[in-house]
Amino acid sequence: MIVAEERFCDLHVHSTASDGTDPPEQLGALARAAGVHAIALTDHDTTAGLAKAAEGCEQADVAFVPGIEVSVDPGPLMINRDESEGDATSTNVVRRGTLHILGLFVEPSDVELAKISEQMKQARDSRNPEIIKQLQSLGIPIDYEEVESLAQREGTVTIGRPHIGQVLIEKGLVSNMTDAFKRYIGQGGEAFVRRDRLSPTDAIAAIHHAGGAAVLAHPVQLYYETDQQLEHIVSRLKEAGLDAIEVQHSDHSDEHVAQFQALALKFDLLMSGGSDYHGTRKTVNLGQCRVPFSRYQILRDRMECS
Ligand code: AMP
Ligand code: ZN
Ligand code: FE
Ligand code: FE
Repeated sequence: MIVAEERFCDLHVHSTASDGTDPPEQLGALARAAGVHAIALTDHDTTAGLAKAAEGCEQADVAFVPGIEVSVDPGPLMINRDESEGDATSTNVVRRGTLHILGLFVEPSDVELAKISEQMKQARDSRNPEIIKQLQSLGIPIDYEEVESLAQREGTVTIGRPHIGQVLIEKGLVSNMTDAFKRYIGQGGEAFVRRDRLSPTDAIAAIHHAGGAAVLAHPVQLYYETDQQLEHIVSRLKEAGLDAIEVQHSDHSDEHVAQFQALALKFDLLMSGGSDYHGTRKTVNLGQCRVPFSRYQILRDRMECS
């Protein structure tokens, strides 16, 4: 009996175009070495690495999905309809969560996608120096130029908190990235600054304009308090045009995977999955979630038909 070789994909990967540490052109070879047959490059708020990543994947004979990861303001979704007229304070806890939407199979040069990328860039350009100012006011010796020079060295388009964290590590001011987020730059940290101002509806509309599928990334990071809250968010996103849920992710337990799979079925959403690989900036390996290749095939076929 011939047993078909099991194949895998990884539909959530970062490069040096945002806060990953591998140049986009090297991802294809790395995927192949990790036994991964399809990857999506999903850098934060930019499509700048897609062309090089596509070339690298072609050379390595790895299927390539052009993607993006957009940071979205979860606020507008958290307000229950019944509460929208009055006091919505009961939503405050969920407001602290992170809402990221992946666009998969996007046209890299789409004008609407370019518009939101530019919007996000401006938001980051004002947020990052604010974080540095906060750090300075805490007596931490750090300048924004140091962060910019790290980004320049790596060829980064989207500068994010991990770059600030990296500078803090290199200067011996924190012991590692987790420490940097916990003490200073993460939610609840002393130098945390909120930024995400893009609405979920606008993000999904731009991804659709670019011909892509909109995927709710790592639902666990929404920090919902009850499963009912999560369902509420998913149903609102579905109304806004959401196409899929990221079922497998390096932050998801087996229980989460089962839960999100059931949620996808309940809301008639497709299923995606990926590691959220960031090179050496996270302790996550490329392809570590062993996402079945069929997830890639189903998404691809659906996008080709639409
Ligand atoms: P930003 O885009 O500037 O908001 O930064 C978000 C990035 O920081 C994401 O790619 C996360 O992977 C990373 N990140 C968020 N929280 C943590 C954490 N606690 N430890 C390490 N990295 C984190
Ligand atoms: Zn990141
Ligand atoms: Fe994310
Ligand atoms: Fe990510």
